[in-house]
Amino acid sequence: MSTRRFLIAGNWKMNHGVADATALVERLLQQDLPSAVDVVVCPPFVSLPATAMLLTGSRIGLGAQNVHSETQGAFTGEVAAPMLAELGVEWVIIGHSERRAMFGESDATAAARARRAQEEGLTVIFCLGETLAEREAEQTLDVIRRQASVLAGLDPARLVVAYEPVWAIGTGITATPEQAQEAHRFLRTELAGLFDDNAAGALRILYGGSLKPANAAETLSQPDVDGGLIGGASLDVEPFSAIIRAAAVLAAGESS
Ligand code: PEP
Repeated sequence: MSTRRFLIAGNWKMNHGVADATALVERLLQQDLPSAVDVVVCPPFVSLPATAMLLTGSRIGLGAQNVHSETQGAFTGEVAAPMLAELGVEWVIIGHSERRAMFGESDATAAARARRAQEEGLTVIFCLGETLAEREAEQTLDVIRRQASVLAGLDPARLVVAYEPVWAIGTGITATPEQAQEAHRFLRTELAGLFDDNAAGALRILYGGSLKPANAAETLSQPDVDGGLIGGASLDVEPFSAIIRAAAVLAAGESS
C-alpha cells in the first residue's frame, strides 16, 4: 500500500482577480474538506496577498503559478521566490505546458526556476507531458524522460511532478486511466534513477488534463496517480471539492 497522500491542486491560470479569488477561497474554507487529502490552490500573482491572508492557519495550501530563477533584479514582469515566501506562499507550479508553448519556457529554464524555488523553501509542482504529435509519433516516454531528466539535483522531498499530456489540457479529452498509469509508472522509474527508490516511492505524481468530478475517481484509482493538477474544474467550489472528495473516498479504501 502506498504511503503517499493524495494532493489535489487547483491551477486557476489567468482567472479570478482579488474579488473572485477571495470569494472562492471563502467558499472553499466553508466546505468540510476531508483531512485525508492535501489541497492547494494556485491563484494569479495579484490575488496571492488576499488569499494568503484568508488561508493562513487553514489546511489549504497556497501556490503560485510561476517564479523566476533569480532572486531580484532587472527582470520586468517576473516575480522572485523570496517575494512569494514573504507572502506565505509555499508551493509553485513550474514548467506548465502553457509557459513552455507560449512564453518560451524550456527544460533548462524550468529547471533553474525549480532550483531557486526550492532554495527559497518552496515546494515545486513540476509539469511535464507530451504533445499530441509526440504521442502519435510514439515519443511519449522519450519526451517524459527528457523533461524529467532536468529534475536531477533537486530535493525530492520538496518536489511534486505533474504529468500533463498537452493534448488533454483544457480540451475535455482525458488520458485513459491506462495511459495515465503507464506514464506515471514510467516517470516513477525515471525518478528512481535520478534520486533513489525510496525518494521515488515517496514522491507524488499528479495527473493533469481535463480532470473532472465524472472522471476523477477512475484516474485517481491508478496505483501511481497520487492526485491531480486541476485547471478548469478548480475555478468553482463544487467541481473542485467533488474531486477532493473522490480522492478521499479512494484514500479511505486504501487505508481500510
Ligand atoms: C492545467 O492547466 O494544469 C490543467 C490540468 O487544466 P485542465 O484541468 O483545464 O485541463
